[in-house]
Amino acid sequence: MNEPVTPKHALSCADDYDPNSMPVEKAREVIARFLEPISTVERANVRAALGRVLAEDVISPLDVPAHDNSAMDGYAVRHADLKSDGDVLLKVAGSSFAGAPYQGTLGAGQAVRIMTGGVVPRGADTIVMQEHATAQDDQVTIGKGHKQGQNLRKAGEDLAVGQVALKRGLALRPADIGLVSSLGIGEVAVYRRLRVAFFSTGDELVSIGSQPGAGQIFDSNRYTLYGMLTRLNCEVLDMGVVRDDPALLERAFSEAAAAADVVITSGGVSVGEADFVKELLERLGEVVFWKIAMKPGRPLAYGRIGGAHFFGLPGNPVSVMVTFYQIMRDALLRLSGRDPIPAIPTFKVPCVSSLKKAPGRTEFQRGILESDEHGTWSVRVTGEQGSGILRSMSEANCFIILPTEQGNVTPGTMVDVQVLEGVI
Ligand code: AMP
Ligand code: MG
Repeated sequence: MNEPVTPKHALSCADDYDPNSMPVEKAREVIARFLEPISTVERANVRAALGRVLAEDVISPLDVPAHDNSAMDGYAVRHADLKSDGDVLLKVAGSSFAGAPYQGTLGAGQAVRIMTGGVVPRGADTIVMQEHATAQDDQVTIGKGHKQGQNLRKAGEDLAVGQVALKRGLALRPADIGLVSSLGIGEVAVYRRLRVAFFSTGDELVSIGSQPGAGQIFDSNRYTLYGMLTRLNCEVLDMGVVRDDPALLERAFSEAAAAADVVITSGGVSVGEADFVKELLERLGEVVFWKIAMKPGRPLAYGRIGGAHFFGLPGNPVSVMVTFYQIMRDALLRLSGRDPIPAIPTFKVPCVSSLKKAPGRTEFQRGILESDEHGTWSVRVTGEQGSGILRSMSEANCFIILPTEQGNVTPGTMVDVQVLEGVI
């Protein structure tokens, strides 16, 4: 009999696997093997579909544009009437304005006044822009040098009937809902949204509205998680703060797993701190603990509890966000039905700061990408890089990615940056 493919099993089969120093890329790869995207389909009207993931291709029921039409204000003419060596005088037989086409057929020696978007009359094959024509009474003079078919948008040149307008797996953006409505389509098939439950763990945490006692701090992870999950268009289920108490944690894990597709926790996954979390998760599901070779964001737990995916993130606020961007984003997008998953724009710019970096882990330092008065871009670091300093994420607009083997960085060195805006 085949052994079941579980995270642990998959890992034991991986050749170069070291749970104490898991490369970021490897962690993404292993997790990706267990992600079965949502398959439930709903119908959403075009406005409500903004941000939702298409469950079917949108096929164009029409030619776009529907008719040959003019790209300019000017005159619709028969190219055969024009002269190659001089002026021709044509009779203006009528007009074709956007929404009010010329009803007749253009005869020899005739022109029709036409405005941008106006339907090209039968018989006409060329548009002469008004700057190249001289009108007088009901006649117009047109010179030489016009190409047949110029300034004319052909029916179906944007999209032909039956052509795929938008592909399954796309999350609809403003341009896309505009395109859908341009096809006269009022409703599209989308996947149901991913349900994500999350809670913070820690005896030191209090929520807004409570007075922190000695050694206590306000919970921030639930708020950054709420923000990031909402931006990814997930349905969020905020389960609050759970004390470091085995019975309370067990109840929270079970409730979350029953209610959601994905369970995310922060805090309490570092070694030694709370071995009971490990024991608990081993009892409730199938969970592996990794130390990812990244900074910040070293400890990570991943697995399944009941029918839900489980991600145990570290407690430090910056670690939560970095782990989310680097590992959770792609996993959640895949589960949501996104296909392909848009890569986060990453490129090289000179770094104006000097950066401290020890070889051994991939670092995601927080940076500010900016351009000078000449339009030349560079990046500087946001100051202190401790994994508890959430202000560094708030000030940053990019990660500076320093590869594993990289040491200190001197000013002027080219570094990889990854933009934060628009990717979550
Ligand atoms: P832990 O992973 O539980 O050992 O937590 C690591 C650090 O992150 C500790 O300083 C915690 O106080 C802090 N921390 C854990 N959870 C949160 C949270 N939800 N909000 C803010 N800080 C947190
Ligand atoms: Mg803790």
